[in-house]
Amino acid sequence: MGILIPHYFSTYLLPFQDLSPMKLSKSTWQPFMIQAIRQAQIAASQGEIPVGALILDHSLNIISAQKNATRRLHDPSAHAEILAIRDACSKLKKKRLDNTTIIVTLEPCVMCAAAIAEAHCKRLVFGAYDTKAGAVIHGAQVFSMPHKPNVEIIGGIMEKENSLLIKSFFNPLRK
Ligand SMILES: [Zn+2]
Repeated sequence: MGILIPHYFSTYLLPFQDLSPMKLSKSTWQPFMIQAIRQAQIAASQGEIPVGALILDHSLNIISAQKNATRRLHDPSAHAEILAIRDACSKLKKKRLDNTTIIVTLEPCVMCAAAIAEAHCKRLVFGAYDTKAGAVIHGAQVFSMPHKPNVEIIGGIMEKENSLLIKSFFNPLRK
């Protein structure tokens, strides 16, 4: 007696489908980075270290746009990324930010990188590299630690502009 092969094995072989909503490239992030830079510039005008952050949903709609506010809020944890994560979670009424992208003008510090991991953001896009306080590519390399979620990391978007933004704040004579 031959082996019975269920009919559905031989029919319905679906063609490969690319289910991603759109093709993403480095240029995808530029307009968002420009908006994050605007946030950073507002921070600078308020005497804050110029760092801006956005959170985008799965369809790349902006859920939150925040800027560094440690002086204004008297809060050392009020970095742009932390404020954006809190704001986005609050708006979505969720404790995590699955399927979101966080855009930051500067490589996140160890506190913010850990918060991005805790929030389960899908993707981190940042501008300038921070060799001193950065903890993504540099320092603690938080996302390489064991048990951290898999976050896609894209660094160096508008790196020159972002690097100049932070440097000119700390050394205005070099403007
Ligand atoms: Zn930070």
